[in-house]
Amino acid sequence: MRVVLATRNDGKLREMQRLFAPCGWDLVSQAALAIDSAEETRTTFVENALDKARHVARLSGAPCIADDSGLVVESLGGAPGIYSARFAGSQRSDADNNAELIRRLEGEINRHAHFYCAMVYIEHADHPAPLIATARWQGTIIDAPRGDNGFGYDPHFLVKGTDLTAAELDAQTKNRLSHRGQAAALLLGLLRG
Ligand code: IMP
Repeated sequence: MRVVLATRNDGKLREMQRLFAPCGWDLVSQAALAIDSAEETRTTFVENALDKARHVARLSGAPCIADDSGLVVESLGGAPGIYSARFAGSQRSDADNNAELIRRLEGEINRHAHFYCAMVYIEHADHPAPLIATARWQGTIIDAPRGDNGFGYDPHFLVKGTDLTAAELDAQTKNRLSHRGQAAALLLGLLRG
C-alpha cells in the first residue's frame, strides 16, 4: 500500500522508512508528489500534525502520516513550542534560533525543557478516527553548545540522565530515545492494534 509522508525533507523520509519498515508500505514523501507544504496555523503540535496530514491526504488521495515537533521550555511558558523552526523569525537558521533561545534564558535558573512530537496517521482526508501518538524527551538547556550531530536545538539540549547533548548522540541512539523515535514506536503499536 502506498502511504504518503507529509514532509519535504529527505532525511526525515529515510528515517521514517526505516521506522515503519515493518508495515511493508511504499512510503513516499509529499515532495515526490510535488505537494506544497500546508500552512501551520494552529496552537498545538497535534492540531498542526492533523492539518498537515489532511492537506496531503486530500491532494494525494492516499493514506498519510504527518508529524509536528519542537522544543518546549518550562520557564518560557512552553516557547519556542510550535514556533521552534522560526523562533528568531521566518527564514532564520538553527544558529539564529539557538542564539534567541539562550538570550531569552539569560539569568534563568530553571532550564527544564522537553522535545515534543505528535505523529498522526489518517486513512483519508476526512477520516474521523485518526491514530495519534505523542511523546516527550526530557532534558535541560545549556548555554554552551556541544556536539556536531543532529540539527536544530540539539547542541543545547542536555539529555536527562546523561552528560551528553542530543548533538553528541549517534543517530541510532537519538532515534531510539528521541520524541520522534518514541512517537513512531507508539504509532506503530497503534497501527498493529
Ligand atoms: P519539525 O516539526 O520536525 O519540522 O520540527 C520543527 C522544529 O523543531 C525544527 O526546525 C527544530 O528547530 C525543532 N526540532 C524538532 N525536533 C528536533 C530535534 O530532534 N532536535 C532539535 N531540534 C528539533
